[in-house]
Amino acid sequence: MAEFPKQAKVVIVGLGGIVGSSIAHHLIELGWDDIVGLDKSAIPTDIGSTSHASDFCYTTGADKFTAYTTQYSQQFFESRGNYVRCGGLEVARVDDDARMLELKRKIGQGKAFGSRVSLISPAEAKAKFPLLAEDQIQGALWDPDAGLVVPRSQKVAGDLVDEAVASGKLKAFPNTPALKIVVDAGRVIGVETRRGFIASEKVVLSVGIWGPLLADQVGSKLPLMPLEHPLLFFGPYDELTGSGQEIVYPLFRDQGNSSYVRDTGDPKTTEGGRVEWGYYETEHPRLVHARDIAAPETARMSPSMRDLTLDQVMDAYEKAIEMTPILGELGWEERHSFNGLLSVTSDGGSLIGESPEVAGLWFAEAVWIKDGPGVGKVVADWMTEGTPALDPHRVDIARFYPHQKQDDIVESRCAEIAQKVYTPAVHPREPFATSRERFVS
Ligand SMILES: Cc1cc2nc3c(=O)[nH]c(=O)nc-3n(C[C@H](O)[C@H](O)[C@H](O)COP(=O)(O)OP(=O)(O)OC[C@H]3O[C@@H](n4cnc5c(N)ncnc54)[C@H](O)[C@@H]3O)c2cc1C
Repeated sequence: MAEFPKQAKVVIVGLGGIVGSSIAHHLIELGWDDIVGLDKSAIPTDIGSTSHASDFCYTTGADKFTAYTTQYSQQFFESRGNYVRCGGLEVARVDDDARMLELKRKIGQGKAFGSRVSLISPAEAKAKFPLLAEDQIQGALWDPDAGLVVPRSQKVAGDLVDEAVASGKLKAFPNTPALKIVVDAGRVIGVETRRGFIASEKVVLSVGIWGPLLADQVGSKLPLMPLEHPLLFFGPYDELTGSGQEIVYPLFRDQGNSSYVRDTGDPKTTEGGRVEWGYYETEHPRLVHARDIAAPETARMSPSMRDLTLDQVMDAYEKAIEMTPILGELGWEERHSFNGLLSVTSDGGSLIGESPEVAGLWFAEAVWIKDGPGVGKVVADWMTEGTPALDPHRVDIARFYPHQKQDDIVESRCAEIAQKVYTPAVHPREPFATSRERFVS
């Protein structure tokens, strides 16, 4: 490992995730050098959300900016041999006309944003995804560009860091937490670690669910909370044996039941031989305060993996069996299943850009895997040119008024966003139900 530096042009905190590693890659592509990357875990991360994501990417983003970062990321992964363009379905149940309308709306929107989504019949959906009970749906959206990051986004993060280190422009320090972002007169001046202080006029925080901890220290609050996301595995699924593929069937989303299904490919591949079912809790989403995330030494699995019980998901699981009966036929793999922690924000958008409170402090928070490389490009462009390629208002950390970052508002709005990750279909400008009437005439 390199000698610990006393200064750097930029310090990336949280280098080991897909976001930090992508930022390092894109900064170097734009000519930056003298970059230091820190991570409190291994590199690539073995405790962050990137270490256990399902790793799929749909192009059905709800706004132009996200459509750009997703499509950029898909191409980026593919250009490195890390993407299987297996396609993906989103279905409307027979009794869910609102979802059907939403699929049609998404197809129009997708065309406007440059995706190739189309509407297909139940029979066509069944032909693409044989695990489907065809009589359960009235139609489906088909996204031919949806796909899976292979073998894992965690591997991509590790490769990006290795390449950046080999270029001589990045020094990477695993097991080195940033203890404190040091600020003087409203400007960042460096990062405190237990190995010493690194002076730097630019610091990027890409620390995922831990974001509020460091941001709060310097009075630049992040309206973000970690959320438990149940991910369950079922198997062994022998049909996948001998396929030699990382994923055999297309991706499948049943947003009306707030859930998704995918196979994990040939048993010989990473985590293969199973069917995976993910769910977003719609009634009582389990938000977690960043301060309550377990320390690595006390977590049973990992700080971002919490225990899961079947009763937490039972109603939705039973509905999922109607749609994809295989989930009821295979054995539940309790040992592999868990509640993963991911970030939700108070308006559902990522938190990117320079802190309005602290000059030189940049955020790249609440970013999905499907947008990781795209956001890496956006941050690098923004830091280099002063502006990214597209209007970033939708994700700009500066979009919040100070009162919108108060704890009670953040918690109530994050809970609403968490309930609606998949369902019901909401208009992007639908008003919030909570934390209203703060300012009345
Ligand atoms: C179960 C599950 C399934 C998912 N499936 C998908 C999917 O299919 N598609 C998709 O697009 N997204 C998916 N996601 C979301 C996705 O995993 C995350 O949005 C993404 O991994 C975030 O990446 P990141 O780099 O921002 O954060 P992380 O991967 O969490 O990395 C943050 C890093 O910061 C480090 N860090 C934290 N604090 C400090 C500190 N003080 N000093 C130094 N380092 C620090 C951590 O150690 C960690 O390595 C899923 C999430 C979960 C939980």
